[in-house]
Amino acid sequence: MGKRILIVDDSSMMRKMIAKILQPEGHTIIGEAKNGLEAIDLYKSLQPDIVTMDITMRDMDGLEAAKEIFSFDDSAQIIFLSNLDEEKYREEVERLGALGFANKHKAKEILDIINR
Ligand SMILES: [Mg+2]
Repeated sequence: MGKRILIVDDSSMMRKMIAKILQPEGHTIIGEAKNGLEAIDLYKSLQPDIVTMDITMRDMDGLEAAKEIFSFDDSAQIIFLSNLDEEKYREEVERLGALGFANKHKAKEILDIINR
């Protein structure tokens, strides 16, 4: 079944790319945020099924935002998306309780994570 998804990334191109992967599979993009602060606000107001979360962003990064979101909703479903140089965060992200971790260059993995 289609999920209601919040996309968080500081790159508008990346947000578009993620939406293009998710929408044909029946998922709905209910919001987009460009930093962690916006992500927290939108999470609380929209209560999405799933969040795709960039790591490096200005103002508040994805790791900090995820901690806040988990303290608000401990069953939040967050999938982190990383650049190659952010692979070092994979372990930390898993410890936080993320649903998954996908590389931006293989962003279609988001679909496998959602479906598993
Ligand atoms: Mg970024």
